[in-house]
Amino acid sequence: MPEETNPFKNAQRQLDTAAELLKLEPPIHSALREPMRIFEINFPVKMDNGDVKVFKGFRVQYNDARGPCKGGIRFHPDETIDTVKALAAWMTWKTACVNIPLGGGKGGIICNPKLMSLTELERLSRAYIDQVARLIGPTRDVPAPDVYTTPQIMAWMLDEYEKINMQHLPGVITGKPLALGGSEGRADATAMGAVYTIREAAKALGLKLKDAKIAVQGFGNAGSFVSSILSQKMGCKIVAISDSKGGIFKPEGIDIKKVLEHKKVSNTVTTMDGMKTISNEELLELDVDILCPSALENQITPRNAGKIKAKLVAEVANGPTTPDADSVLFKNGVFLIPDFLCNAGGVTVSYFEQVQNAYNYYWEEQEVHDKLDKIMTKAFADVYAASKKHEVNNRIGAYLVAVSRVAEAMKLRGWV
Ligand code: NAD
Repeated sequence: MPEETNPFKNAQRQLDTAAELLKLEPPIHSALREPMRIFEINFPVKMDNGDVKVFKGFRVQYNDARGPCKGGIRFHPDETIDTVKALAAWMTWKTACVNIPLGGGKGGIICNPKLMSLTELERLSRAYIDQVARLIGPTRDVPAPDVYTTPQIMAWMLDEYEKINMQHLPGVITGKPLALGGSEGRADATAMGAVYTIREAAKALGLKLKDAKIAVQGFGNAGSFVSSILSQKMGCKIVAISDSKGGIFKPEGIDIKKVLEHKKVSNTVTTMDGMKTISNEELLELDVDILCPSALENQITPRNAGKIKAKLVAEVANGPTTPDADSVLFKNGVFLIPDFLCNAGGVTVSYFEQVQNAYNYYWEEQEVHDKLDKIMTKAFADVYAASKKHEVNNRIGAYLVAVSRVAEAMKLRGWV
């Protein structure tokens, strides 16, 4: 993987900048540059045709000074240990940035779920838990869904863990179906949280959200809910959306309900009638008010950063902007809501899910949204104040807030 697009190298570079500004003690800085624990597992799974295939999986526990490690499990053919390490680092900063009592972790399996049957996915999910059961637990390390993992996969994983431990332990995993102890408001929590930060950023910029033009890259769990909430609740005009096959553009605004129906049957947004088709690269450079990268890492790089016309970039995805591109955006006056602030709504409602599991008492959706709004609004204000005080971009501002909280917990524990 080239250095500039290696997500873990980028996560380390971002931390280094914040460490210098914070005058972080060298032992704390060194400890925070690497995960505390890395596990690699290789495990056999029986396929439907009777063959046995050996899969490689990972679990990274980045830092647990502030609470149990927390982070999703990604099923992806291009999964690498460096991606998992970067995502685990960003989870550590994310939980600290929104100030919930959790650390950071992440997991993954190298596999292509699109080419596997449901029964194969179930055996894969259970076999992964058989391997990591000794590492995880409600007070140790709590997985959740990520790219290409679903509430059903969380249900199989929970069941396997509870069988091994011979008791009900719903707090071991979040993003569960409602019937197994999931939380109301979890499905669209990442998008809801992102919209709360967009609302706060728009206030800071004096940008009116009504009729604001929006482009959303990626139309999966996060991107589709962001598009729906921004258009239906905030009155914005979604002019472009995309998926892995390409994008569509309509300056008068796209009817998101129709696209959702279309995607269910055709599996892509690109074949919608009455739209101009565009590439993912063109989408990023459109003349819009707000751009929401909601797909994968390394989408905004020094090659296209100078061509971004949006006034506000809301990073719904993890790691869509490289550090060198960050500097270009900042110089050009583009206001960026960094990933681990913008998409922290998912982990915040995961935390609410754990709290409800511990109480065995469940909240209504409005209560979840109200509590989420309070946390996201406060986190935005903390980050914005730190960025202004130190005259740095919002990403470094978010690092200043998060890293100082993790460092304080490490010092109080006497680790350094
Ligand atoms: P998902 O699998 O539901 O959707 C991913 C979307 O991206 C799909 O529409 C896919 O077609 C599209 N895509 C894939 N490759 C692309 C490419 N090269 N160009 C354009 N589009 C492409 O995943 P998700 O859960 O929506 O996650 C998306 C991003 O948001 C990831 O970075 C993830 O880590 C982050 N995130 C998600 C959550 C959550 O709760 N879902 C929480 C925090 C962060």
